[in-house]
Amino acid sequence: RVKALGRNDFQFFDPEMQSSAQERLEIEKGLHQALDNNEFELWFQPQLCSDDTIFAAEALIRWKHPQKGIILPGSFINIAEDSGQIVEIGNWVLKQALEQLASWKQRGLPKTFKKLAINISPVQFMQVNFVEDFLKLLNEVKLPGQMIELEITENMLLNNFEIASNKMKILKRRGISFAIDDFGTGYSSLKYLRHLPLDVLKIDRSFVTGLRSSSDQAAIVEVIIATADRLDLMIIAEGVETLNERSALMELGCHCFQGYLFSKPLPAEVFFSKLTASSAVNLISTEQEL
Ligand code: C2E
Ligand code: MG
Ligand code: MG
Ligand code: MG
Repeated sequence: RVKALGRNDFQFFDPEMQSSAQERLEIEKGLHQALDNNEFELWFQPQLCSDDTIFAAEALIRWKHPQKGIILPGSFINIAEDSGQIVEIGNWVLKQALEQLASWKQRGLPKTFKKLAINISPVQFMQVNFVEDFLKLLNEVKLPGQMIELEITENMLLNNFEIASNKMKILKRRGISFAIDDFGTGYSSLKYLRHLPLDVLKIDRSFVTGLRSSSDQAAIVEVIIATADRLDLMIIAEGVETLNERSALMELGCHCFQGYLFSKPLPAEVFFSKLTASSAVNLISTEQEL
């Protein structure tokens, strides 16, 4: 295409660029309406350890677009971060997640279910009022901080280490735990990590996929697990899809998982049924043992 235009013709708007810019604009516009029209939903993906008990879940946002159907966060979180809309969306996510958890707690959660993990965008976490607003919300729904885990990424810490770690310490004192999401994909340094009040390292899916057949990947996962051990952190592997991946992870010393092998993210009610049903199964089997 460039050749056809001739040497001196400068094409300002590549049609592809234009369409993607237009698409971004469309999404950005759509996002405004999405909040107003209640088009967002939280879905929940179980986290399990090798005993197959669901000990936690991750809240994942979905956009039920009136025309386009369900849009996954990969197609709009970046845009919302660039436009600043992530702050409002993130606040909605927090409120929705906490209210949902509080309502489940009232209906009765299995004792084995410990917490709900919520993704926090750096832009959102860096808001001056984030800690204050979050703690206020936590008080309102009357949940113990121990039931909430915030997932943040390594890259957030890079540019804002001092501020981020101060915020984390305040929240930590209220029982909230922290997970490093997508671990291994960003800039990671033991030096940084060991000064933070972290609880969990989540191994990124890219290191998990095809683990059994790749010795390179196994070497990376080994280093990640060694890092987590050094820092005394729990490890959760993301994106576990096959029994082979699961057994390879266990051989390397990772015993907690999240992935399609166990469950895809589920709508709230479906997740709650699964959670309570699975604990009922546990109960029955315990009774049979007695
Ligand atoms: P993440 O936090 O790393 O979440 C895990 C993603 O991996 C989810 O994609 C989940 O559906 C997907 N996943 C889990 N198990 C498997 C598997 O076995 N195979 C495959 N192929 N995928 C698996 P999802 O829901 O599309 O979310 C993508 C990303 O969007 C998330 O990655 C997170 O970074 C972001 N995100 C999602 N919800 C929120 C939110 O409420 N707030 C913010 N700020 N970001 C969010
Ligand atoms: Mg996450
Ligand atoms: Mg992740
Ligand atoms: Mg990821």
